[in-house]
Amino acid sequence: MRTGTNHLFIPGPTNVPEPVRRAMNVAMEDQRGPEFGKLGLGLVADLKRIFRTETARVILYPGSGTGAWEAAITNTLNPGDRVLMARHGQFSTLWAEMATRLGLDVEVIDVAWGAGAPVSEFARRLAADRKGAIKAVFVTHNETATGVTSDVGAVRRALDDCFHEALLFVDGVSSVGSIDFRMDDWGVDLAVTGSQKGLMCPAGLGILAVSQKALKASETSTMRRAYFEFRDFAMLADTGYFPYTPPTQLLHGLRAALDRIHAEGLDNVLARHAHLAEGVRRGVAAWGLQTCAEHPSLASNTVTAIRVPEGVDARDVIRIAYERYNTSLGSGLSRLAGKAFRIGHLGDLNEGMCLTALAVAEMALVEAGADVTLGSGVAAAQEWYAQGRKAQMQIAAE
Ligand SMILES: *Cc1c(COP(=O)(O)O)cnc(C)c1O
Repeated sequence: MRTGTNHLFIPGPTNVPEPVRRAMNVAMEDQRGPEFGKLGLGLVADLKRIFRTETARVILYPGSGTGAWEAAITNTLNPGDRVLMARHGQFSTLWAEMATRLGLDVEVIDVAWGAGAPVSEFARRLAADRKGAIKAVFVTHNETATGVTSDVGAVRRALDDCFHEALLFVDGVSSVGSIDFRMDDWGVDLAVTGSQKGLMCPAGLGILAVSQKALKASETSTMRRAYFEFRDFAMLADTGYFPYTPPTQLLHGLRAALDRIHAEGLDNVLARHAHLAEGVRRGVAAWGLQTCAEHPSLASNTVTAIRVPEGVDARDVIRIAYERYNTSLGSGLSRLAGKAFRIGHLGDLNEGMCLTALAVAEMALVEAGADVTLGSGVAAAQEWYAQGRKAQMQIAAE
């Protein structure tokens, strides 16, 4: 018998705010009816603000982030095209695997799990590619497996510095709407996200923003695609209607979630994530533990991956948190299994929730055999959050 609420601190799906859940509790409706197009048009217009783009086209696919990856690739590239990407965590690894499965010639740069996208190595290879064999560069903006955020703007500069024409693909599944993302400023051609992370909705939508350059590429691209065809989904941008049956409840939830983001203000949402994340990181530092991110400048504001000490199994930490304290922490993925656990801190979140995550994690760490002082992580985060609160009150008083 479990009492009280369950705590969800995985980096997706994230906590769905109560008003978003209520907004989804509506009767089924006619997705071809006269009113429905307004909902679709409003969603794509407001998602453009989240991607910070004026010129791109936003497409919502029933599916998840991975489906939107597939749509991005199959609509714009040709069989055998060379693409350049780095592997530095489980998500970038899966993306490279998909590109290979779909028949691309994948040039992979393997870097440490904990490093960011290797911009200078990208720059070197792009500069050496005089014939323009590389058709696309893929960047995982926020590697959710390691808690590392990469510099997408720097990759754009690397492309521009050698006048390279490759398309810039960005996986923003765990960053869009919670870490600064600038589609137009960074010249991103295909930006992918999903409904269940920063956008605070259940899983079920793969969301793609497509630049004019990528739309142009889609007119001649010869990869096979059917369901995901950009042309079929063009009606969404033009009329707000979907070519096939959309998940209508989820769209109402997304409407409510976007309203919340705009009411808070996107910049404030991003600042809140930075502030909450810093508290979590201070907590981890107070435990005397390391994060997977190789350098503080790479640390993600949406997820922190924490290395457990030698002799402790991170799977025990996660199991204890779940079984004894009704709390879900993120697991260490693939080669980090047993070596790390993750705290997801994105979406609908506040200081008290982060303190709960730290409090439960430190109990679970101690019970799993780690030499961590109870209360140390919580105290460090409290110190940071209380200071931030004081600073806010000072600003308000001035
Ligand atoms: C969650 C995630 C994905 C996978 O998205 P799905 O919605 O599960 O298909 C891809 N990339 C990153 C960086 C993610 O965090």
